Formats: sequence, structure tokens, C-alpha cells
Amino acid sequence: MQGWPVPPPKEPTKSGEEFKKEREEKVRWLISQGYLKSKRIQDAIRQVPREEFIPWSYRDYAYLEVPLPGEKATVSCPHSYPLFYEPLGLDKGHKFLEVGLGSGYGAVLAREIVGQSGLVVSIEIDPMTYEYARSNLAQLGYDDLILVLGDGGLGYHGKAPYDKICITAACGEVPPPLFEQLKIGGRLIAPVLQEGIQRLMLFEKLEQEITQLIICDVLYVSLRGQYGFVAEVGQEG
Ligand code: SAH
Repeated sequence: MQGWPVPPPKEPTKSGEEFKKEREEKVRWLISQGYLKSKRIQDAIRQVPREEFIPWSYRDYAYLEVPLPGEKATVSCPHSYPLFYEPLGLDKGHKFLEVGLGSGYGAVLAREIVGQSGLVVSIEIDPMTYEYARSNLAQLGYDDLILVLGDGGLGYHGKAPYDKICITAACGEVPPPLFEQLKIGGRLIAPVLQEGIQRLMLFEKLEQEITQLIICDVLYVSLRGQYGFVAEVGQEG
């Protein structure tokens, strides 16, 4: 993606203590900028060591406000997680579906927010990225998330309906199966391409209609699969 000043790869030198300090500073900065409000999201960011989701040679940059290269996908910048989760109203006990697992960082944050009484399901279409996230989660001992290798545009019927759904790749329109798998009163957030600009949009499913609200402009990789822009060659299913 263009326009982001990604720093050069290097051997990491920072200690766990330094990362912890940077994490605390990040929480304070996110609050001061108005991105972060809820106590549960604050605690989740304090709890999850973001550096463990970053490829080795970019690890020291874990708390910089830039998207970093992942195995194949990018790891979104730190502010993008509260940017999605605050308007969703993600909270304790929610059943949450994420489309685009990436490094697994967003899924683990969500797991900390929804707690043991909730559930996180995350779908990734790219096999290498999926394996990378799986090993990140396993190393940190997260074993109660449902990770699915497949097309997130189709959702995951097994645990539907969901309280909250988050699409972390840009789509032309929200894949209809995801609205179907959302509870009445549930919310969905997604970068939607409108006239060449990606807009982060919040949707709420009511009894008779789906309301929508534009939050801000964003920049995400394109959604792939059946509801994506890019034709998939030789893809299963
Ligand atoms: N949620 C992660 C990842 C963001 S990058 C994070 O916050 O860091 C977007 C991810 O969406 C990439 O890993 C990409 O491979 C994945 N993706 C794209 N289209 C998809 C689809 N149809 N289903 C599932 N994952 C998809």
C-alpha cells in the first residue's frame, strides 16, 4: 500500500519492559486522541503484547502508528482497533465474528474484550496468513477462539447469529451472508469503497431496516473471495 512510511527492517533490541511501557503510553495516547474510551478495550490493549504478532524484523516498531508487514497481509496500525471496536460497542459476553484474521492481534484483543462468556470467530482466506496467526495464538496460549480458513464473505454459520461483526478488508458492498448472520440489534463495521474512497461504515440491523453511518476514511487491503473485487484463480470452494 502506498503512503505509509514503513520503517526499515532490523534486528529487534527492545525488552519486554520497554514494550510494556510503550503499550501503556499507547493507551494514554489513544485516549487523548479520542480513539479509546471503554475500560474493557483499554484493558485489552494493556493486556495483549502486540509485539508478538509482528514479524521479527519489525518487532521494535510494534507501537508505531503505521501498518506493518505481516507474513502476507499487513498488521493494521494500533489506533485502527479501537476505531473499529468502540463504534461496534464490543463488550463482555458478545459473540463476535471477524473477517480477515491477519496476524491474529485483532482477534486476540476481541477475545480479551468479550471475555470467557463471549466468543470470537475469525475467518482468514489466505492459508499462509492463517497459519501465521494460528501459531501466534498458540504461542500466547489462546486456545478458545474459533479460527477458520475460508472465505469470510460467506460468514460462519456454525456460531451464527453474531452480536458484532467486523470486516477488516475493503469491500464494494457488505456481503449479504454477513447481514444475515447478524442478530437483530447487532452491529457490523466495514471499510466500504464508495467512489474510489474507502469509508469506514457502521451498520445496525433493526427489525425492519439496516441503518448506516459513515465514520471516517480508511485504507485497507481489498476483500477477496466471492464478494471481493479480485477474481480468485484456482481457489477452493
Ligand atoms: N484483522 C487483521 C487483519 C487485517 S488485514 C488485523 O486487524 O490486523 C486483512 C486480512 O483480510 C488479510 O489477512 C487478508 O488475507 C484477509 N482477507 C481478505 N479477503 C478475505 C476474505 N474474503 N475472507 C477472509 N479473509 C480475507
